[in-house]
Amino acid sequence: MKAFNHVNAKSLAEVKTALADGKTNLIAGGTDLLGTLKDNILPTYPLTLINIKTVPGLDYIKEEGGMLKIGAATRMADIAADSKVKKSYAALAQAASRVATPHVRDMGTLGGNIAQLHRCWYFRKPEDRFECTRKGGKTCFAMTGDNRYHSIFGAVNGCIAVHPSDTAPALIALNANVVTDRRTIEAEKFFDVQKPGNTVLAVDEIIREIQIPAPPAGAKSAFIKFAFRKSIDFPIVNCAVMVGGGAPRICLNAVAPKPYRATKAEAAIAGKAINEANAEAAGAAAVADARPLEAAKFKVQIAKTLVKRALLAAV
Ligand SMILES: Cc1cc2nc3c(=O)[nH]c(=O)nc-3n(C[C@H](O)[C@H](O)[C@H](O)COP(=O)(O)OP(=O)(O)OC[C@H]3O[C@@H](n4cnc5c(N)ncnc54)[C@H](O)[C@@H]3O)c2cc1C
Ligand code: SF4
Repeated sequence: MKAFNHVNAKSLAEVKTALADGKTNLIAGGTDLLGTLKDNILPTYPLTLINIKTVPGLDYIKEEGGMLKIGAATRMADIAADSKVKKSYAALAQAASRVATPHVRDMGTLGGNIAQLHRCWYFRKPEDRFECTRKGGKTCFAMTGDNRYHSIFGAVNGCIAVHPSDTAPALIALNANVVTDRRTIEAEKFFDVQKPGNTVLAVDEIIREIQIPAPPAGAKSAFIKFAFRKSIDFPIVNCAVMVGGGAPRICLNAVAPKPYRATKAEAAIAGKAINEANAEAAGAAAVADARPLEAAKFKVQIAKTLVKRALLAAV
């Protein structure tokens, strides 16, 4: 790893000023960022890392003004263990509890979880070996290479890498907003395919808080993840749902370059009892538009099954 300066920020203003030079990266838990730096996978390398975890008042979980508010620097472990989150926002508690390992959950923050980079192995090849589309090149190496864990819903901007976050679909199912230092963004509109980022954030924009409206009376939520190992593995597919007390919300992740709102599944289950047959039909509707490459076809059945199981788990 090349050398860089490390600064413990005392305020958001200090973070903002530092980011303005274009040569500084924001670091939270570092569980994603440090890997990208150690492997030197990106075309540019920061001169300075500015640590947001030392900014006072960014690590909290509270209910206020009819919503749950979570500071951007709140750790996965704290979200998974919080009684308020477990009681009323179960999908998020369950998602946070399935991220990686206890060590990563003790370090990794919610802001970092939703702003993390994708895991495409061509993109992540050490020493920036593949100048792929997401790095400004002209080729997606996964398109003709090994794409078994890639998108089943096609490419966005020439890239078929999937979004890897476990908390992202839970936040979208729960209708959350991401509050930055300059605006409030619906969770569903927060994710994008950039070179190389995965969000709509400007380079000097800082996530301050996640806000989740209190679920409507009678609503229940659930999250389910399929990974090859119970611990440490990223999702092959995950799914979060919120049903009851309003229109159903269903979101898959790791199936497309952005979290995938399964609107056809929502329409299929809307107004119906959640039972085995209806949940199965919703699962089938969720993957009706899937167009997987050959090696990723197995993910279609997993996505279909997770939608069904998440619906049944919520009630
Ligand atoms: C072995 C391993 C397994 C993992 N498994 C999973 C998994 O199963 N599921 C999963 O979802 N993730 C997984 N991760 C990915 C990731 O490390 C964690 O999700 C973690 O939550 C990231 O948070 P962080 O605070 O460490 O982020 P960092 O590494 O500090 O930051 C990641 C990115 O987010 C940006 N960022 C962080 N905070 C902010 C903010 N407040 N405002 C603007 N930008 C910000 C940083 O600049 C950086 O670009 C895994 C990582 C490892 C190393
Ligand atoms: S899938 Fe995306 S990140 Fe992976 S090689 Fe193709 S363009 Fe690059």
